[in-house]
Amino acid sequence: MPSSARPLLMIPGPIEISEAALAAASGPPLSHLDPELIEHFGASLRAMRQVWRAAPTSQPFVLSGGGTLAMEAAACNLIDPGERVVVIDTGYFGDRMADILRRRGAAVVRLTVPLDEAVDLDRVERALDGRIKALFATHVDTSTGVRTDPGPLAELARANGALSVFDGVCATGAERFEMAEWGADLYLTASQKAIGLPAGLALWVASGRALRTRASLTKAPPLSLDFEAWRPVLQAYEAGEKRYLSTPATTLIPALRVSLEELLAEGMDEVFARHERAAAAMRAGFLALGLEELAGPAPLRANTLTALRYPEGVGPELLGRVRAHGVVIAGGLHPAHKDEYFRVGHLGVVTARPEALALTIRALGLGLADCGAKVDVEGAVSATLGHL
Ligand SMILES: *Cc1c(COP(=O)(O)O)cnc(C)c1O
Repeated sequence: MPSSARPLLMIPGPIEISEAALAAASGPPLSHLDPELIEHFGASLRAMRQVWRAAPTSQPFVLSGGGTLAMEAAACNLIDPGERVVVIDTGYFGDRMADILRRRGAAVVRLTVPLDEAVDLDRVERALDGRIKALFATHVDTSTGVRTDPGPLAELARANGALSVFDGVCATGAERFEMAEWGADLYLTASQKAIGLPAGLALWVASGRALRTRASLTKAPPLSLDFEAWRPVLQAYEAGEKRYLSTPATTLIPALRVSLEELLAEGMDEVFARHERAAAAMRAGFLALGLEELAGPAPLRANTLTALRYPEGVGPELLGRVRAHGVVIAGGLHPAHKDEYFRVGHLGVVTARPEALALTIRALGLGLADCGAKVDVEGAVSATLGHL
């Protein structure tokens, strides 16, 4: 990599973004009351309903912040202190959700899912004993590369009188999610993941049921996270009217519209299929490099990232070696296995660029070779390209 060249970002967020989104995010600041900004905001909210495949009665939210802020907003708008919730814990971010809910004063029933197993629906059903207010799950666990199927969980929650909330931070805009059809109540993400923008926006859509739940809370959420405080403002934006609660990220909102409309122009089914194809191609390359996935033959593997064990004799020094060949990959994150593995993201616009995927496999192969591993780098690159 020439020292002046920026390395390719292949981590599970922030990710490479489209030329159009980059251009839109690079404009001069707009006033928060500028009609142009309000037009972009309203269009973004309408586009979110389509990307999320949410009902017309749902409310999309866009706040300045990250995925963690969206998780906090879900907890404090849906749960009163003392209420019982179930958290399906598939790794690092399930852990965080449980922590956030405990800080809100919830009684958390945590269902820990072993690395090599799918979520056991019978176990979930037993935990939903009629006294549970809401079920929380992570769509794609960014620490393990394991995907959870939200449909059956949303259905189980509904059948047992509980809300269902899904952390889609490493999935939304890449993995299939059918908010209305599945009857999910809240699906959240952040701009720097598959939505394909710089970091800075927390995004979620809440169902009508979730909005009514907020209305019936005893303990109000913090003002700046409150569904009820934001709702009239967001409704005004959709109607093309000025309204103020807190200054939006006026430089990112036009870019949000661009990236959402790019997804919709391609079609969500094609977006999901593109990520599936890229994941298969990357895994063919990883396999040809002799690498093994952290979660073994996991029943459901994410299309957005892969977690791979370091081969014998190789450790975290691999990341620097790969970066020297032009690609940034990520280290381990799961608390129990952190030093045993690394992660490669394959989400967003790179999945439509075979040369970027090939560069990633080549850089990884060369990095492994620099660490002393015996690998067939060009064979692995061919395996990947053969899939595309
Ligand atoms: C990245 C991520 C988060 C946290 O998002 P931040 O923007 O870093 O706060 C939460 N959940 C999942 C699944 C993630 O991948």
